[in-house]
Amino acid sequence: MLKKLTRWSRIKSPWILHLNSGACNACDIEVVAALTPRFDVERFGVLLKATPRHADVIIATGPVTRQLKDRIIRIYEQTPDPKFVVAVGACAMSGCVYRGAYNVMGGLDQVIPVDVYVPGCPARPDAILDGVVKLLGKL
Ligand code: SF4
Repeated sequence: MLKKLTRWSRIKSPWILHLNSGACNACDIEVVAALTPRFDVERFGVLLKATPRHADVIIATGPVTRQLKDRIIRIYEQTPDPKFVVAVGACAMSGCVYRGAYNVMGGLDQVIPVDVYVPGCPARPDAILDGVVKLLGKL
């Protein structure tokens, strides 16, 4: 019964952590647009949290830089199970324009598992919403 209730509450109100692993900032602006009233992801019960310990979903932007690799893994480990990862933008998917740079490892799935990919450079807020809704469908 408790498991059912926990599952229901996660689907109805997933809490998210926004993680920039090396983005140029454009994807981050689009994530902010998705969170604010124009696109209003809160209508799906999604809330932004400041700490991984309170989050169910990590929304990550940007390629993985060598400088941030260990921190990304630590943040992933600090997020309680079951946890989900949404890679937002071409950089988080593959490294995009930064691929091959000396300090870039590639996409997010080089260091942590990714559940949903949202394409775009930058990813549009409605595509981010679509990614979140697809993730809720998976849950
Ligand atoms: S996908 Fe494009 S907009 Fe997003 S972080 Fe990479 S370069 Fe910037």
